[in-house]
Amino acid sequence: MTTHAARPPRPHAAGRCDVCGKVAYPTKAAAKVARRRLHPGEAMSVYRCGCWWHLGHLPANVRTGDTDRHDLPNRRGVSA
Ligand SMILES: [Zn+2]
Repeated sequence: MTTHAARPPRPHAAGRCDVCGKVAYPTKAAAKVARRRLHPGEAMSVYRCGCWWHLGHLPANVRTGDTDRHDLPNRRGVSA
């Protein structure tokens, strides 16, 4: 028996991004907290998209240091 409404699957998330549809966090800090709770030990990056923050995996060549993350093309064509 359930006595309360279903909890949101992603604590701290504000909903979905209008631009890319990913789970959106209102602040960088909230995204980092969610990353720690949902993806411990994973190489997830916190990045900005429009007015939201998202979690994502970095490409392998960035994780190994061969490519700087700032040199990555903006794959979604979003200009902040
Ligand atoms: Zn987005």
